[in-house]
Parts: sequence; C-alpha cells; structure tokens
Amino acid sequence: MVKNLIFCFFISVISIIIFCSLKLYTVNNANVNYSTFLSEVNKNKIIKTHINGKKIEVTKKDMTQYITYSPFYDFNLLNVLLEKKIIIIGDVPELKNIFISTFMSWIPNFLSMIVWFFFMKLIQISNEEGTLFFSKNKAKMLHKNKVNTTFLDVAGCKEAKEDVSEIVEYLKEPQRFQKLGGKIPKGILMVGPPGTGKTLLAKAIAGEAHVPFFTISGSDFVEMFVGVGAARVRNMFENARKYAPCIIFIDEIDAVGRERGTSVGSSHDEREQTLNQILVEMDGFEVNAGIILIAATNRPDVLDPALLRPGRFDRQVVVPLPDLIGREEILKIHMRKVSVANDVVPIIIARGTPGFSGADLANLVNEAALLAARYNKISITMLDFEKSKDKIIMGSERRSIIMNEHQKEFIAYHESGHAIVGRLMPGHDPVHKVTIIPRGQSLGITLFLPTNDIFSINRQKLESQIATLYAGRLAEEIIYGSDKVSTGSFNDIKIATNLARKMVTQWGFSDKLGPLLYTDVGKTVILGKSRRPVQYFSDKTIQIIDEEIKLMVDINYQRAKKILNENIDILHAMKDALIKYETINLLQIDDLMSRKPVREPEGWNLR
Ligand code: ADP
Ligand code: ZN
Repeated sequence: MVKNLIFCFFISVISIIIFCSLKLYTVNNANVNYSTFLSEVNKNKIIKTHINGKKIEVTKKDMTQYITYSPFYDFNLLNVLLEKKIIIIGDVPELKNIFISTFMSWIPNFLSMIVWFFFMKLIQISNEEGTLFFSKNKAKMLHKNKVNTTFLDVAGCKEAKEDVSEIVEYLKEPQRFQKLGGKIPKGILMVGPPGTGKTLLAKAIAGEAHVPFFTISGSDFVEMFVGVGAARVRNMFENARKYAPCIIFIDEIDAVGRERGTSVGSSHDEREQTLNQILVEMDGFEVNAGIILIAATNRPDVLDPALLRPGRFDRQVVVPLPDLIGREEILKIHMRKVSVANDVVPIIIARGTPGFSGADLANLVNEAALLAARYNKISITMLDFEKSKDKIIMGSERRSIIMNEHQKEFIAYHESGHAIVGRLMPGHDPVHKVTIIPRGQSLGITLFLPTNDIFSINRQKLESQIATLYAGRLAEEIIYGSDKVSTGSFNDIKIATNLARKMVTQWGFSDKLGPLLYTDVGKTVILGKSRRPVQYFSDKTIQIIDEEIKLMVDINYQRAKKILNENIDILHAMKDALIKYETINLLQIDDLMSRKPVREPEGWNLR
C-alpha cells in the first residue's frame, strides 16, 4: 500500500517536471511571423529590436512588443534596420546560457533515467514481495495472531484431525523433535472432495500451533507469462523462511502438479517450470526447517509422481465427506453462529443430507437463516431447514411455470412411475419425497435418499437404479401409449446409459466381458483436437461392449415395465395424490404402497 502511494507520488512529480520543461520550451512562442515583421519594418512601424541569434524582440512605435523568429541567420536584416534607423540591441554573451541550454537538452535523458530507475526498483520489489505487478493473487499471509481457527471449528473428519495433530505438536516445539532426531514430514497432501474442510483443517493446524499461515491456490501459479509462476513459488518460500515455523497451504495443487508431459497448450511450459520450482524448493529446505507444506486436491491420481516422492508430499491425509454423526457435528458448529429455534434437531437434518460436504452444510445453515430472516422470524425453525434442504438438493421451486391439468397429470404419472419402481426394486434407496412442483431444471422430482452413508454400491443396487430411471418414461408409455411419450426423460436416459456403460467397461459387471477395465475416465488421451478417455480394447471388442450395455439396459427396462403393470392401481392412486397435494412425503408414499387411503401431510390444514 505504502509502496503504491510512493509510486503514485513519483509518477506525479515526474509528470509535473515533464510538463514544466515543455512549458520552458514553448513559453516564448513567436506571436508574429517573420514576414509581418519585415513588412512592419518597411512601413516604419518599428523603433527597437533586440536580437539574439534568430530570436528578435520587437518594440513598435506604439510601444507594444512582440517576439518573432527569423528562419535563418539573416545578416542582411542589420542593413535594413540601420537604413530604417531602428535601434538594434544585442545580448552580452553569457556563459550561463550555454550551461542552461546544455542542462535543458539533458532533461529528457535525465527523466528517462529516473523513470528507468524506478521501474527497475519496482520489478525488484514485486519480485521480493509480489505486491505490485502480478500481485492480486499472490500468496496471502495470515499472521499468527490472525489465524483464529482451531480444531473445534472442524468436525466430521476425526481421523484426519488425529493425523495432523502431531504436526501441531511439532510446530509448537520444534526443538523437542529435533533433539530426538525425529523427522517430521515436509509435505502433507490432503485428499478429499471439494468443501470437506481441507483448507479449514490446514488453517486450524496453524491456529492450534500459533504459527503464520501462507495460502495460495495452484491456479494462481498458472500465469500467462512464463516464469511468473516459478518466481511466485520462489518468493513464497523465501517469505516462509523468514517466518518459520509456519505453514504453506497450496489449494488445488493439481492445477500445477499434473503429471508432466500430459498437458496441451501454451500454459504447459509455464506449468512445468512452476512445478519444477516447487520441487526444487521442497528439496532445498532442511527436514526440520520448520516449514510445513500442506497441499489439497481431490485428484491425487493425476499428480506428477515426482511430487509424491519421499521428502516431498509423502504423507497423505484423507478428508472424506462427513458421515451421519460428522454431519450432525458440523451442523452444530455452524448453528452456534446463528439463532436456532427449540424445535430444531440437528441429527434429523443430518439424516436427510447424505452426501453433503461440510461446505454444503454451512451453506444449508446460511440458507435457512436467510429464509427465516425473509419472514422476519426471530430464530430459524425446523421448517426453514427443511425448505432450504429441498432447495439445495432439488433447486428452487419454480411456481411461475403454469401447467394445465393435463400437463400436471402427465408429470404426476411420470414421477409416480419412478417412485413405485424405486420402492419395489431390491436394494434401492428409499423414496423420500415426490413432487410435481417444478424445481430447478425439472418439472417434477422423485427424491431418493440413502439411509446409510454410501461407501460402495453393489450390482443389485445399480441395476435397480437403471430400472427406476426408466420407470418415468415407462409410466408415460403405459398410460398414454408409445406415441405420446415425451422428451422429458432425456436426463433419466442419460444417467441410466452412463451407469450401464460404466458397469460394463469399468466395474466388471458384464458376464461376457468379465472384470476388465475397458475405459478409464480418469486418464485421457488427445485424439486430434479433443480429449478422450483412454480406451483399452480392440475393434473386435467394441461391438460386444455396445451389445452388453444394451443388454444391461434392456433387462432392467423390462423389470420396471413388469412392476408398473402389476401395480397399475398404485400408479393411478399416486397420481391422484400428487394432483391433490403436489408434494407427497415418505408416510404418504407408505400409505399408497400398502393400498391404504392416503393420510394428510402435517400442517396441511394450516395452509
Ligand atoms: P475445501 O478446502 O476442502 O474445499 P473448505 O475448507 O474451503 O473446503 O470449506 C469451506 C467451508 O465449509 C469452511 O469454511 C467451513 O465453513 C465449511 N466446512 C467444510 N468442512 C467443514 C468441516 N469438516 N467442519 C466444519 N465446517 C466445515
Ligand atoms: Zn424422470
């Protein structure tokens, strides 16, 4: 900041000097041209001239004065003036003039030297601290007193917290570890999906250990100009050395750390240089120098192996999506900061939010707070949480879309199809809610939520998912006939086909092809101008793959069709319930499935 001010100050001083020197040159502009002067001489209008080389100061008979310049040294002029009896005055030859004019002629050079000097100084400064030119996204440093995140702010990743707690001990008392000759890792790689709290955890380490925290994102290193990224890495480490013990946190390390030689385009050299610089710097500091590098990624598989070698990022800490209890704890942490009503039970919210990351849960609390504020409530109620959850999972309601009765019925049949088959297929996640209120991109939604946290999915469940996905379209077909089937199932078809493809080519669920890897979406090759997943199969196999995918879809399509035909009475009843209530919940779906009268949802009378 101060440097920027000094910079502005010098720029203005320099412009003032330039302006003034221009003025020096222009102030004595001739205001009368030479021919007018000659004609006035001839007309006897002049009494006095003061000649200095080509410059002539003229005094007229009416005592007005002006300056004119002769285009060349006009020696003849003297005779003319003498003839007209005009007084001629010359100047005392002065040494000073020469000095001044020499000085004047040097001013531009002088100025450019000054400008050059400051420019160089600036580059030097920006290299040292990176604050002026390429500044905006350079490593941010949080001073040790400013990091007020602690382990209490992080929940849902107990193992990860335990993994890093020894780092805290070390940063607090490096001497104790050094004395024992213990080796603390230089680099820790935090692996996990976005929003699980990797940044938060790294910050908490700094907060707990009371050390400065440097943070930069991998994408900040990837610059247009070759060398900038590497220079930034250098600066960052130089800075960190001054403040050791400290933590350097590199978010999205995969932006720079991708395996070398796999990228295309112009940013490629720059990226490699940056990566090399990181490696050099990491090797450059002693094991116990007190600098700990923490990098975060959700794609450890694409990282350059050199980064993962011993002495570099050789320690991995997995930060997974939180489980049920984890989600409850995270919700509690974020609820501490807002005013929550008595009816709110965090564990119930946690149960309804499988797959949510810590960041999603923080967002949920925030959305609920906004919603409560919109209705001027004094605290956030369970209903606010429920509504915000639906909004995050399914998108906002779009009640502005007006549908006529026939369209509503069409959507109701489609969604009921999904719900019924989802209920009756083995191993499928339970139906949580069905709605025909348009939300986000879709006109109706059937929401399935897993009861437990999913760690891996089995073949039965996948096949059930495919059947359920086609059930919407099948309901349309069964009720209205095959020529009335709509394009509304595009997304269902897409998801189902992709599932079937993965089952066949990656997860080994095709009996004919066996458990072999045929494509690898994580690895890509460049074909012509585009990138494709790596494919490991011959031309002969490609046909079998297609057939097996088709078979996988066909079998489950038929299973869904059978279920719907056998339960067509439930299909009609669910459609009626949806038209009446627009959204039906778990308990109502239970009633429908057991062919009982549908109960009214809670609060239905209050509407
Ligand atoms: P990541 O770095 O893994 O992408 P962040 O650490 O940036 O995720 O998380 C973003 C925000 O989400 C955090 O500032 C915090 O408010 C919230 N959050 C994420 N994970 C957790 C967690 N495990 N415990 C508490 N809050 C979390
Ligand atoms: Zn559908």
